[in-house]
Amino acid sequence: MSETPAVPTAALRARAEIDLGALRANVRALRARAEGAAVMAVVKSDGYGHGAVPCARAALAAGASWLGTATAEEALALRAAGLPGRILCWLWVPGGPWRQAIEADIDVSLSGMWALREVVEAARAAGRPARVQLKADTGLGRNGCQPGEDWAELVGAALRAEAEGLVRVTGVWSHFACADEPGHPSIAAQLTKFREMLAYAEDRGVRPEVRHIANSPATLTLPESHFDLVRTGIALYGVSPSPELGTPADFGLRPVMTLSASLALVKRTPAGHGVSYGHHYVTPGDTTLGLVPVGYADGIPRHASGTGPVLVDGKWRTIAGRVAMDQFVVDLGGDEPPVGSEAVLFGPGDRGEPTAEDWAQACGTIAYEIVTRIGTRVPRVYVDESM
Ligand SMILES: *Cc1c(COP(=O)(O)O)cnc(C)c1O
Repeated sequence: MSETPAVPTAALRARAEIDLGALRANVRALRARAEGAAVMAVVKSDGYGHGAVPCARAALAAGASWLGTATAEEALALRAAGLPGRILCWLWVPGGPWRQAIEADIDVSLSGMWALREVVEAARAAGRPARVQLKADTGLGRNGCQPGEDWAELVGAALRAEAEGLVRVTGVWSHFACADEPGHPSIAAQLTKFREMLAYAEDRGVRPEVRHIANSPATLTLPESHFDLVRTGIALYGVSPSPELGTPADFGLRPVMTLSASLALVKRTPAGHGVSYGHHYVTPGDTTLGLVPVGYADGIPRHASGTGPVLVDGKWRTIAGRVAMDQFVVDLGGDEPPVGSEAVLFGPGDRGEPTAEDWAQACGTIAYEIVTRIGTRVPRVYVDESM
């Protein structure tokens, strides 16, 4: 157990146990599914809340060969922690740390001419070429360079900078809008547009090391999208991209995070007792209440008020009343588990506990958000770190 070595697990108010053995097995399952392609472990937003550095290390140990982040700061933090190999980051604003990224041997994504101009200037100052990947908007309508004139201009300018020794174009890539809805017409349209934009760049002389478009849902369901590299985020953490696609087990994946807390109080209350702010829950009869010492400051959605499921003493309970900043209450229906008993909010599900997907459905969101929003006040406890 690293990261929180001084704190005895049993005494923790709350903990997010991170099963790195499960993460390594998930990487191996994804490698098998994307045979012939390299795997990028996407560890943005602190590894979807699981801890970017330990997860990145475990993913590389299991055969991932790239790391991916949204921001340059996230990529630089991985390097500072000593992570080797290829790292791509894709979300830049003017004035970003281009030179630091170049000096740290980080691949940077360019979606427009402003970014190429800034990276070229930084490469001149650094005295070494930048590794750049050109991002095509093949239909997502978010980041990425538009097809047509914009793409022609970006590709042409990148090739001129490459000829001057200022950049090396290491990748051409894109991102799907609806890969979690197999059969959605945008998927085939984006693949066609990607092939066209890639062919244009290659015809002009771009020689990318990697061509890539697949995220987790595309990696799991769309082999023709794998190209040279798949960028897997949520699947790495053992969560299905969408319940419509299947459960994690359907894809040979296992959830990595188990979120639990220690009951801070168990007490008897009479019928008609209002519970938590606003009294949106009133005890229907004589009962017992359990106090779970985590709240929205820890990333428990306030939308889980009255709906979030929790396993206490072998039984599913539902959050009674509102989730507060630091705590919420469950009605234990007369049971009296000892104070300090474990309340499991979500985990893999095989001890009968809810899953992150159950929480997503209870809160009207996606499981991505449930795991990613777990806050820094909750210590991550890493298990099975060995190979
Ligand atoms: C977050 C992200 C991914 C990973 O998506 P998952 O659905 O979690 O696999 C891949 N590519 C880009 C550009 C992303 O922003």
